[in-house]
Amino acid sequence: MTSPAEERPRTALVVVAHPDDAEFGCGATLAAWTREGWAVTLVVCSDGGSGGPDHATDVTPEARQRISETRKAEQRAAAEVLGLHEVVFLAFPDGQLEPSIALRREIVRHIRRVRAYRLVCQSPDRTWTPSYALGRYHPDHLAVGTAALAAVYPAAQNCWDFPELLADGLLPSRVKELWVIAAPHLNHAVDISATFEVKLAALRCHVSQLGTDHTALAERIRQWAVERGEPFGLPLAESFHMVEN
Ligand SMILES: [Zn+2]
Repeated sequence: MTSPAEERPRTALVVVAHPDDAEFGCGATLAAWTREGWAVTLVVCSDGGSGGPDHATDVTPEARQRISETRKAEQRAAAEVLGLHEVVFLAFPDGQLEPSIALRREIVRHIRRVRAYRLVCQSPDRTWTPSYALGRYHPDHLAVGTAALAAVYPAAQNCWDFPELLADGLLPSRVKELWVIAAPHLNHAVDISATFEVKLAALRCHVSQLGTDHTALAERIRQWAVERGEPFGLPLAESFHMVEN
């Protein structure tokens, strides 16, 4: 006889705006889950085409396309390091994400397709304390957070939302656990002592964003992990707002 825990489908969907967002926010957690046998699908909502240098001189569509292709390849390599099951690129224009019905529909599509038990997304809310972190609250991240929460409830589990998905055979599916990255209130932490180095290795795949000298980056990421762990009595952690649906 199997226990309810054993019957739980180990499927997780991670929804983020950009290539590298998942590695920064929850890479070590995802590596831990894949080691536990979870099938993790990563959905990157933008095409990553705005990820060039801030002072670039060539910002033509062709340049954006090259950056997008580079970043997708980096994301695929990082996903392999983490052991992810699959990466999906929705390819909405980077820097212009909105919590649109079109974005919500695509997130619902993938929740239903993989029958996601866990969903990880970025926070739709800013926090201003202790200080407002500009980089953490990219407008694309906020838009994805809003769209993902709207996809989880009620659209993914309600057959009246997006009936066109029913025609594709995508039946309503209820997400059971919601894990929000960078939320104003963090109530759950994952001990990442065993997978911290995997997170760093995955981040190192994003050469176009992080270069090749990763000494300072590794120190910064370690410091974050220490700070995330402190309130929970963990040596190194990634933290979330986690709720059960
Ligand atoms: Zn981002």
